[in-house]
Amino acid sequence: MYQYSNSYIASPSFAETMDANDPLARFKSQFHFPKHGGNDVIYFCGNSLGLQPKNVAAAIETELTTWRELAIGGYFGGTNPWLHYQEYTRSTLAGMMGAKENEITVMNALTVNLHLLMLSFYKPTATRFKIIMEAGAFPSDQYAVETLVKHFNLDPETAIIEIKPEGGKKTIENSAIVTAIEAAGESLAMVLFGGINYYTGQLFDIQSITAAAHKVGAIAAFDLAHVAGNVPMQLNAWNVDFAVWCSYKYLNAGPGAVGGVFVHEKHATNIDTPRLGGWWGNDEATRFKMEKGFIAKPTASGWNMSTAQVFNTVNLKASLTIFEDAGMQNLRSKSIALTGYLAFLLEQLTSLSFTLITPSDPNQRGAQLCLFFEEKGKEIYQKMKDHGIIVDYREPGVIRVAPAPLYCSFKDVYRFYEILKSF
Ligand SMILES: *Cc1c(COP(=O)(O)O)cnc(C)c1O
Repeated sequence: MYQYSNSYIASPSFAETMDANDPLARFKSQFHFPKHGGNDVIYFCGNSLGLQPKNVAAAIETELTTWRELAIGGYFGGTNPWLHYQEYTRSTLAGMMGAKENEITVMNALTVNLHLLMLSFYKPTATRFKIIMEAGAFPSDQYAVETLVKHFNLDPETAIIEIKPEGGKKTIENSAIVTAIEAAGESLAMVLFGGINYYTGQLFDIQSITAAAHKVGAIAAFDLAHVAGNVPMQLNAWNVDFAVWCSYKYLNAGPGAVGGVFVHEKHATNIDTPRLGGWWGNDEATRFKMEKGFIAKPTASGWNMSTAQVFNTVNLKASLTIFEDAGMQNLRSKSIALTGYLAFLLEQLTSLSFTLITPSDPNQRGAQLCLFFEEKGKEIYQKMKDHGIIVDYREPGVIRVAPAPLYCSFKDVYRFYEILKSF
């Protein structure tokens, strides 16, 4: 269906042919694009905030109507009874994450969920208390782990082991991660890694990290913020203990949308797995009896605390129908071809000096490429903007480009190259 090979050609007609043969091209028209000079922008920032799906407005209107017309009756009546609202997102998320439905729930937001799940699974003792994470993790994750260990009266300096890239590289070898886990041995309580590092775009080997963590008796946990809706996972088969993600990046559910949670069924079905509880995680048969004694649901939903956040979840529910329609594996195939085309075009740029920080192996990255320009980075970013191409810029000279396969085309990628070529 999609070619990923050295048969790429750096020409607009080649890009047009790729688009003409793209079975997922029809999804671009299902999104709203900001305008530039009256035209749709080319949007390469779906790794930070995905575009608005056109079906979202009607989905919100449906819930507004239920609220307007049924008020409290909306919990049990209306188009989508609110009592079960979290469940409406479960099967599609389970498919993307390679999870069983009882391992998935949505609630709160990413950092909140990271804290809640770490409190469930991080049980430091005098000898086993260390946490391994990647150096340069997303700041919120760094703050979460730092404050977690302080909460247990531990010193972040000794309790947190950060794995840094070696040999002047920006990315981390998987073997270095495994070696660090083995070296920490029985002092290691938990590994918390990003699935894809937000900055470098490196996709880590989740299966291998999980196996290494389990071998020394540690918990394996992942922040999949840049993975969800980008790269399909096999969390159940890989035996990951828990994972969390947000829904506003590749999942296109809008700013501050409800967060996603995976808890492996070996923990989720055990109602004695420690957690901070609330009534929405309580067994439904007894929830409304309002009695003493928390009885957890024997599923990931047993971590829910508060009433379903309908207006924080409705966008995700709508957006997921597009993923269901397109198919996560199809999206990944297109993504590999699209980002591969971008990488190929970049290789043709002989006059411009830059470094591709993201791994060149498609199995070690998602949609995003991270480029470091020794000079002219800011200028390039500005020129992209002037031509209606939205990318992310960070000092010093770093441009992150994420061609999301739902709404980016081969021609879009070619346009990016064309502008770079003018430097
Ligand atoms: C985007 C992102 C976050 C943001 O967390 P919120 O709680 O949703 O604000 C956290 N961690 C990672 C790795 C991210 O990429």
